[in-house]
Amino acid sequence: MAFDIEMIKEVYAQIPSRIEAARKVVGNPLTLTEKILYAHLTEGAASQVYKRGTSYVDFQPDRVAMQDATAQMALLQFMQAGRSQVAVPSTVHCDHLIQAEIGANQDLSKAKDKNKEVYDFLASVSNKYAIGFWKPGAGIIHQVVLENYAFPGGMMIGTDSHTPNAGGLGMIAIGVGGADACDVMAGLPWELKFPKLIGVKLTGKLSGWTSAKDVILKVAGILTVKGGTGAIVEYFGEGARSLSATGKGTICNMGAEIGATTSIFGYDEKSAAYLSGTGRSDIAALADGIAAHLTGDPEVYANPEQYFDQVIEINLSELEPHVNGPFTPDLAWPISKFAAAVKENGWPAKLDVGLIGSCTNSSYEDISRAASLAQQAVDKKLVAKSEYTITPGSEQVRFTVARDGFLDTFDKMGGVVLANACGPCIGQWARHGAEKQEKNSIITSFNRNFAKRADGNPNTHAFVASPEIVTALAIAGNLTFNPLTDTLTNSEGNQVRLEEPRGLELPTKGFSVEDAGYQAPAEDGSKVQVLVAPTSDRLQLLESFAAWEGMDLKGMKLLIKAKGKCTTDHISMAGPWLKYRGHLDNISNNMLIGAVNAFNDSTNSVKNQLTGEYGEVPATQRAYKAAGIGSIVVGDENYGEGSSREHAAMEPRFLGVRAILVKSFARIHETNLKKQGMLALTFANPSDYDLIQENDVIDINGLTTFAPGKSLEVIFHHADGTSHTVVANHTYNEGQIEWFKAGSALNLIKEAKA
Ligand code: SF4
Repeated sequence: MAFDIEMIKEVYAQIPSRIEAARKVVGNPLTLTEKILYAHLTEGAASQVYKRGTSYVDFQPDRVAMQDATAQMALLQFMQAGRSQVAVPSTVHCDHLIQAEIGANQDLSKAKDKNKEVYDFLASVSNKYAIGFWKPGAGIIHQVVLENYAFPGGMMIGTDSHTPNAGGLGMIAIGVGGADACDVMAGLPWELKFPKLIGVKLTGKLSGWTSAKDVILKVAGILTVKGGTGAIVEYFGEGARSLSATGKGTICNMGAEIGATTSIFGYDEKSAAYLSGTGRSDIAALADGIAAHLTGDPEVYANPEQYFDQVIEINLSELEPHVNGPFTPDLAWPISKFAAAVKENGWPAKLDVGLIGSCTNSSYEDISRAASLAQQAVDKKLVAKSEYTITPGSEQVRFTVARDGFLDTFDKMGGVVLANACGPCIGQWARHGAEKQEKNSIITSFNRNFAKRADGNPNTHAFVASPEIVTALAIAGNLTFNPLTDTLTNSEGNQVRLEEPRGLELPTKGFSVEDAGYQAPAEDGSKVQVLVAPTSDRLQLLESFAAWEGMDLKGMKLLIKAKGKCTTDHISMAGPWLKYRGHLDNISNNMLIGAVNAFNDSTNSVKNQLTGEYGEVPATQRAYKAAGIGSIVVGDENYGEGSSREHAAMEPRFLGVRAILVKSFARIHETNLKKQGMLALTFANPSDYDLIQENDVIDINGLTTFAPGKSLEVIFHHADGTSHTVVANHTYNEGQIEWFKAGSALNLIKEAKA
């Protein structure tokens, strides 16, 4: 039911000839990444050499996966495209809207009630357009995809930034905005700037307390949150082959935190074992038949410096467990140095909560290794000092680990099993007392730890580590505990040590599940009614954005000059706002409320140039819109990093912001802005950012001759009568300029259909 063997056979039939054709054109030995990318070029894009980091290329992905929060807008957009069904196999996964509060059953049942209209909409729209639907409780998108849909050599896009998880099974899997998903589901090519390639050579073998998570925690420390921008990270070497497929998935998943386009491992025995273990030995057999095409050429791995733009080498035998954070996932601490860092920085040493699981780390291997520590805690009469939660990634994993007794073990340690959903990882955590905003520490095996992400409290210091380290620290109740060297006092007053965790990559009795939570679509969806109530405050059918007026933009106001980190969480906050993901007008009330105004260092407080008063950002922008005045947003480095949500682009577009001018963009957000018909511009001279003043009135010139590679001119008229002219660069190609002119990419799709 869940995978499409015929589609995979078709893909595999084409891979060898396409790679050989590429080999002739490129003339070099090929990395795995190049092989899969070249195998997925559209016909028109084949037979060319693409320049890494420069060329825009059209691809034809094999699959689309959407999570419920982003699927709403993606599918509302798809409905506007006038197609009768999706052009490639697609799935929807209900995982982001389930709030964690008490425990799995109560939380799930409350979510079904609270989100009924959204689930009904998603189920009906999936049913109509031939989309597989995974009900609430079925699991988290990336775990469900890894178990059911990911296949070596495939290409998938997903409306979630951790889509790269499927790279653990050798797939090029890339997080995109809903607008991209809409295009691919409508049968259009998907465009990507041909990435740079970072090679990570893994030598040695993991042992003891170290796990796959520590590889990516280490890589994040080396590359930082910007270091992977515009690049695909390819892992190889004997160390790579020694990792389980799910461990590889963890590494690829969290590769999103270094800004990488995606990450990938080659097909090997571990991939085959996981495919067979998840009921897909037929795919493993097919992959075995073209195995040489599902890994990089031997010459590449023998001399990686010649073929990758950057090479990193990590010896797994020497790798220490890491803890990263707080507030950013690239602040990497080997466990031996972490206690000192906690003390020196004055971070709260007392650990309030340890949370394991999520899409990043909820494999059978993860859960079994963490459970081995929980069992030790019980056996050695240690009482866990912190609260402890477990989020299984899928119903299949949950059912299997329950069957094998691990959930009982966690229960004995005082652990609480949450629903198979995102929960605390996306701010859907009704954490009692968080509203008091007290300084406290938590540690998770998730992937992101930006301020407020887990519980909305800016003073929660969130750290990221492997499930094993999270569990050990939760037992100790203190961040300064190093399980490799320290002892703990048990309930009898004895000093005891936690032994190294032990686990199994795959269940010896196989996976098992009673109801995986899948709904297949109708054979003929033409009669299916999509359920959207006109009075709904959570769902709203879309109206087209207006086309460009055909002239330069004059007399705009500065809405905000954002200072420092401005992620998509700052632009379109998650947490309580998630419920408006399908209602553009309502969710626009969160626009940029997390961004710091450079002029007063406050959030959600900007000067309304019409009144001279300070007001909230959305209200100020609505005032400009009502007065028919456009505005621009100015931002800092890596603007729009983080989650792929296109709301962060649609909201400013809907409220009348015309351009975003920043020092640099995160890739997905820049594309999202272009799709929505916005101007995404960068300062040619980043220090010009300092010239922008609070009362500036702004013109953008050069739009009537808007062309690829040709800068635009932005004039800032200051209140004192002086002005500055700034050169603004852009990365629009011809097609993207047409999106701008039409008002949005979707407007163009509709025109093409008409
Ligand atoms: S990273 Fe967190 S929020 Fe995103 S899909 Fe995974 S569990 Fe859900």
